[in-house]
Amino acid sequence: MLNKLRKLFAGRPRVDYAGVGRNDECPCGSGSKFKNCCIEKVEKRTRAERDARLFGSRKG
Ligand SMILES: [Zn+2]
Repeated sequence: MLNKLRKLFAGRPRVDYAGVGRNDECPCGSGSKFKNCCIEKVEKRTRAERDARLFGSRKG
């Protein structure tokens, strides 16, 4: 069931990291654990979004 969904989204350049656990396999397809792979950029992005909302400005 999930695999079908994954195939549907496989052609998309953006990966949906919502609901991915730190110890889960990274959804980007690298085969590494999420915490060892894309977690940094995802956390950085969410933090930047939160900061932007807090301060009402976008930096960098
Ligand atoms: Zn990754």
